[in-house]
Amino acid sequence: MAFPIPKTQTVALVRTLGGRVEFIDDYPVRTPGQDEVLAKILYSGVCQSDLHTRAGTAAGADGNPITAIKLPHIGGHEGVGRIIALGPGLAERDPSIQVGGLVGIRFSSRVCRRCEYCLKGEEQYCQGVGIKPTNHLHHEDGSFQEYICLDAGYITLLPQDVDPVLAAPTLCAGLTAYKSVKNAAVKPGQVVVVVGAGGGLGQYAVQYALAFGARVIGVDGGQQKHDFVTSFGAEFVDFRECPDVVAKVQDLTTGGAHAVIVAAASSAAFSQAASMLRIGGTMCLIGIPPGGGHIDTTVAEIVIKGITIIGNLVGNLGECLDAVELVRTGKVKPKVFVRPFRDLSKVYEELERGDVAGRVVLMIGEDPGSHM
Ligand SMILES: [Zn+2]
Ligand SMILES: [Zn+2]
Repeated sequence: MAFPIPKTQTVALVRTLGGRVEFIDDYPVRTPGQDEVLAKILYSGVCQSDLHTRAGTAAGADGNPITAIKLPHIGGHEGVGRIIALGPGLAERDPSIQVGGLVGIRFSSRVCRRCEYCLKGEEQYCQGVGIKPTNHLHHEDGSFQEYICLDAGYITLLPQDVDPVLAAPTLCAGLTAYKSVKNAAVKPGQVVVVVGAGGGLGQYAVQYALAFGARVIGVDGGQQKHDFVTSFGAEFVDFRECPDVVAKVQDLTTGGAHAVIVAAASSAAFSQAASMLRIGGTMCLIGIPPGGGHIDTTVAEIVIKGITIIGNLVGNLGECLDAVELVRTGKVKPKVFVRPFRDLSKVYEELERGDVAGRVVLMIGEDPGSHM
């Protein structure tokens, strides 16, 4: 028995930047091309950058808004789906890709595999030799739809026994945090401060740093975030109650933290990060504030303390699978709230207010099961 493939599907469509999310129930289901698979999407996390893309407020590397966005647009780049059909001849060409398998829908969609970044395993920065690289945030429709075609040559095959609900947000938030912890290069027992510890990205940064053996101090605001962050085994500093967070971190450590991971999306969160660091410490930046943001740190402090500053845009496919593996084995347990697909607009509003402790995952469709 083959999986049924409908002609039309429900999608969450945005027609103009800044426009509202419209649910359309008769959107066409694409037929997979030669080197594509068709997946039925089960779950999708909701990332802060989906919100900014919809609103037209996503900042590019030059600090200006990214406006070259496919319209109408379907967001979502933290999706998990079930492969339900293969493009013509693909089964013969690549028996490792099977109908019934779990697949990820991530930020990176198509990469060239030939440019200097692809060749050194940083394909998320692909500059495109021969083909134009695409992502699910700006160029291709993402996981806020029931069915999607994916490039078989750059496919995210997930282990069959991973929980798709927990895997979904790991594909962007988890991977981004995992890569930042890797960049921090902390040794067991060293101190990592995570600013914005109770958010979607922060919770992962806290747990991956703990999994790497670090002592973790989470900075965030409110009792709910306190309870959440400490439940993982991290210490907590409440910036709403603590008049001097830098002094508090210095107090809790001997000479400051080895690394500070800034996972918050407000500019203010970045300004104090360097001062929490010890000499030779590393500042890892992953959240992007609206308008691009600036770090208000003196050059003197960076030079005299010998501080390293590292940013990262998600991570590569191999790192993604490593991040998923720590979730599959239960070493990292992301806190997620499963909501119906049609709650997307409400979820965006909650994210804008900063109300979400953990990650919202939308249930997009029923799992047809792995067996034919
Ligand atoms: Zn994202
Ligand atoms: Zn490339």
